[in-house]
Amino acid sequence: MNKATRKAVIAGNWKMNMTPSQTTALIEEMKPLVASADCEVVLCVPFVDIAAAIEAAKGSNIKIGAENVHFKASGAFTGEISADMLKETGVEYVVVGHSERRQYFGETDQTVNLRSLAAIKAGLKPIICVGETLEQRELGYTETLLKYQTKMALTNVSAEELKNVVIAYEPVWAIGTGVTATADQADEGNGYVRAAIAEAYGADVAETVTIQYGGSMNAGNAAELVSKVNVDGGLIGGASLKAADFSVIVKAASEQK
Ligand code: PEP
Repeated sequence: MNKATRKAVIAGNWKMNMTPSQTTALIEEMKPLVASADCEVVLCVPFVDIAAAIEAAKGSNIKIGAENVHFKASGAFTGEISADMLKETGVEYVVVGHSERRQYFGETDQTVNLRSLAAIKAGLKPIICVGETLEQRELGYTETLLKYQTKMALTNVSAEELKNVVIAYEPVWAIGTGVTATADQADEGNGYVRAAIAEAYGADVAETVTIQYGGSMNAGNAAELVSKVNVDGGLIGGASLKAADFSVIVKAASEQK
């Protein structure tokens, strides 16, 4: 398997945006625009929007995901949502370890791993985010850090389970900043992630894993980013809130196939 045969996934991350009624309206607008996609199209939405999103996406090629999942199955964890709860809503994907959760909500490599394991066990596909800060990049730690975060996130994940895991390389300095990594930087970062997977599981397995780039990907830069050999689609924040922009990104990934 290689770039041509790996599954490209374009996933929107709506963050803390959109009410349920806005969710319905945006997905209705998106549906015809992405209907002929030749890649996986996913929208990861706030918990309260999931029901509306699943209803609006019914019969279309849009898959719905959540933005986080707790690692415990149930219990006294006020405000948290378990993997089984998510599974029963009908979501297929869940973002795990987004840098905003690492930065503002105390997410660690260990909890990212536990959340990923909980998602996999429930039959959800985690989109696991890894990425370096600007300071880490400038100190020359990018490769070491990406490999460490990747291996930590995948601890106790089997090669078989890895088939349902997506990794998103998201340089923290590029998220929501309008500063995009160059296509070469994205390819290099994704390459480090793939190398870490190869070290842990072997090169053949690493070649099969979908690794997205995320960080200010938009309608103008998507085609160049997704053309890179290690970039299998994208995790899209701001541009996933605009149907026209998101559909251009989906088209760019589809044309890479
Ligand atoms: C994200 O939220 O994962 C992201 C990449 O955001 P943005 O595209 O807005 O930089």
